[in-house]
Amino acid sequence: MSMRLSRSIVGEAEARAVSRVLLEDGYLGMGNEVRLLEEDLAEYLGMKPQQVVTTNTGTAALHLAVEAVAAQCHVTGGKPEVLVPTLTFVASFQAIAAAGCVPVACDVLPETGTLDLADAERRLTPRTIAVMPVDYASNPWQADETLNFARKKGLRVVEDAAHAFGCKSRGRKIGSFGDVVCFSFDGIKNITCGEGGCLISFDAEVVRMASDARLLSVENDSQKRFAGTRSWDPDVKRQGWRYHMSNIMAAIGRVQLGRLDREFIPSRRRLTAIYEQRLAGVAGLELLHTDPEDFVVRHIMPLRVLHGHKDAVKEALAARGIPTGVHYKPNHLLSFFKRGNSNPLPHAEQLYAELVTLPLHPGLIPQDVEEVCATIRHAVD
Ligand SMILES: *Cc1c(COP(=O)(O)O)cnc(C)c1O
Repeated sequence: MSMRLSRSIVGEAEARAVSRVLLEDGYLGMGNEVRLLEEDLAEYLGMKPQQVVTTNTGTAALHLAVEAVAAQCHVTGGKPEVLVPTLTFVASFQAIAAAGCVPVACDVLPETGTLDLADAERRLTPRTIAVMPVDYASNPWQADETLNFARKKGLRVVEDAAHAFGCKSRGRKIGSFGDVVCFSFDGIKNITCGEGGCLISFDAEVVRMASDARLLSVENDSQKRFAGTRSWDPDVKRQGWRYHMSNIMAAIGRVQLGRLDREFIPSRRRLTAIYEQRLAGVAGLELLHTDPEDFVVRHIMPLRVLHGHKDAVKEALAARGIPTGVHYKPNHLLSFFKRGNSNPLPHAEQLYAELVTLPLHPGLIPQDVEEVCATIRHAVD
């Protein structure tokens, strides 16, 4: 089989778990299995199950998070604004827009691809309610600085940690500190539910709103479903969505969570270490920086190819059947999110011209990564 850029790593154990839900439980919607996944996630992160709200996608978690935070803020003279790095999956921007807010594209640091806080500060207005840092390539760079910035400016923090499940910032697991943290469990993330996501928060009101809003804002419906019943006489006081997770997805996620520390993290870190050994210090290449005090489990492996040689590297890899990707086209270049051009975002555009995403997933073997690195080194020689 040819090399893949990324892929789900699922097998017999996930198949057995799904089969158990289908054949033994026979209840496919949101029920006990989802409750158990929320408990397992809480235990993994050192949180309480009542602080975890699973959803059907990571995008849904971000949408619910921004919506719940916005409900606590009062803004006049226009829509609430959320500061967000432009170098992210369009899901971050769409989630902010879906919540009735304006995504304000911010520049990123060239060394890491993460939010440039100085640039974010220049884009503050009286309508800014929140900042959405993105753990780009799983890097929780400046997690504390971002929380301090938000505290000083009176902003909420909705962290897009879609890449960063299993990572730590200065010894603390991502998802165990902060304000509102969102994960994705889509097919190729560090763990998968097939599709899925969750939000975690220290704000009980955010959790309560998100927990109801994922079930069409039927009040306390989550608790009823976990107990195997429903609300037959509901009240609904606000907009809601059909964003809950199913027992089938949760069953896959629970198996994946059990494999994370033993299999997926060591594998991703071993492969990343080979990339770093072979590509560090090579003229014309630049690896993204990480803080040695952080524990980074790369979901993707972006490499900067300098001096305009990006296409040559991509072509050399393609010629050997090695796929590459782009993470990401900056969102301010997308038609829907273009807002004037008075605020340049030079670092993000520079990175967009340089970044090549290399294959990374636990289905690769070290020799695969050696081949990728040898091909790149030859191409820039
Ligand atoms: C995957 C991803 C999301 C969205 O997650 P889904 O589960 O695919 O909806 C959001 N932000 C980033 C940076 C992502 O990579």
